[in-house]
Amino acid sequence: MIGLDIHEPQSLEEAFALLGDDESTARPMGGGTALMLMMKARLFKPSALVSLAKADPRFHGIHLSSDGKAFTIGAMTTFAALEHHDAIAKHLPVITQTMVTLANPRVRNVATIGGNLAHADPHLDLPPVWLSLDSSIRTIGPAGERIVPLADFFAGYYETNLLPGELIMQVHVPVSPGWRRRYVKITTRSAHDWPAVGIALGLQMQAELCTDVRIVLSAATDRPLRLEAAESILRGQKLTPGRIADAAQATGDIHIESDSRGSADYKAHLLKVHLARALQDLSE
Ligand SMILES: Cc1cc2nc3c(=O)[nH]c(=O)nc-3n(C[C@H](O)[C@H](O)[C@H](O)COP(=O)(O)OP(=O)(O)OC[C@H]3O[C@@H](n4cnc5c(N)ncnc54)[C@H](O)[C@@H]3O)c2cc1C
Repeated sequence: MIGLDIHEPQSLEEAFALLGDDESTARPMGGGTALMLMMKARLFKPSALVSLAKADPRFHGIHLSSDGKAFTIGAMTTFAALEHHDAIAKHLPVITQTMVTLANPRVRNVATIGGNLAHADPHLDLPPVWLSLDSSIRTIGPAGERIVPLADFFAGYYETNLLPGELIMQVHVPVSPGWRRRYVKITTRSAHDWPAVGIALGLQMQAELCTDVRIVLSAATDRPLRLEAAESILRGQKLTPGRIADAAQATGDIHIESDSRGSADYKAHLLKVHLARALQDLSE
């Protein structure tokens, strides 16, 4: 058995003091699900864990702005709270849809959206969806607060651009009426397994014309990645079968990584087939 202190600070000042300076191996804790797995695998041995549960009320709650244009979601919001939130289901149904095959109910009851983002495992299901929704995060650290667009947040495999000592406090998600959205999770074992490929899609259509589009790939690259070449083939165009096929083929230059869920070649094939299929479905 290893000895480990778990603290529950009652203020942010106390949390920052417990987390210590750059040399410290004390770590902030959301639900602790990823931390526990990494500790059990002996990949990481923190000196202490600092729960953010009681540090500040701004880390909690799901709020829709009074003009209905954006959600602010506290970093300590659990997956289960997100999954069962009525306003999220109404305005961001793609999130509710994504939760159904994400991990299992035991994990969803404790894992938090802040821990999920900070963990920065490229196989996670929510980050590509947040990115396709043009979300940003509000961070807080000893030096103050920052708004970071999610597009600038991930730095690579398990790496983020959080500054030393900085915490994710909230996720801001614009509500975009009129967009059609979907998250496609392609698993090679069971439905609830980690994805071999994840594709988060958003289409804004006016009559038959695609006026704007977001395509984000995950689980196949070292971080969630916007497929801008494919997007630019579709933006401002009619989504004919030929154009959709061209967009799917435009993913050919992406550097895809092999892992235990599939080889790079297999994942590249899955991406082409499922992207074309999902675009066709969404555009109809
Ligand atoms: C068996 C199992 C299956 C799973 N399957 C899936 C799946 O299919 N798809 C999927 O997407 N996810 C899945 N997950 C969940 C995922 O792997 C992570 O465990 C979870 O998202 C982490 O959330 P947490 O709140 O528990 O983070 P924690 O374990 O508390 O923290 C993770 C990391 O984030 C840091 N951190 C936590 N909160 C903050 C904050 N507010 N600010 C800054 N840093 C912070 C911690 O220091 C740590 O480095 C699964 C988990 C398990 C255990």
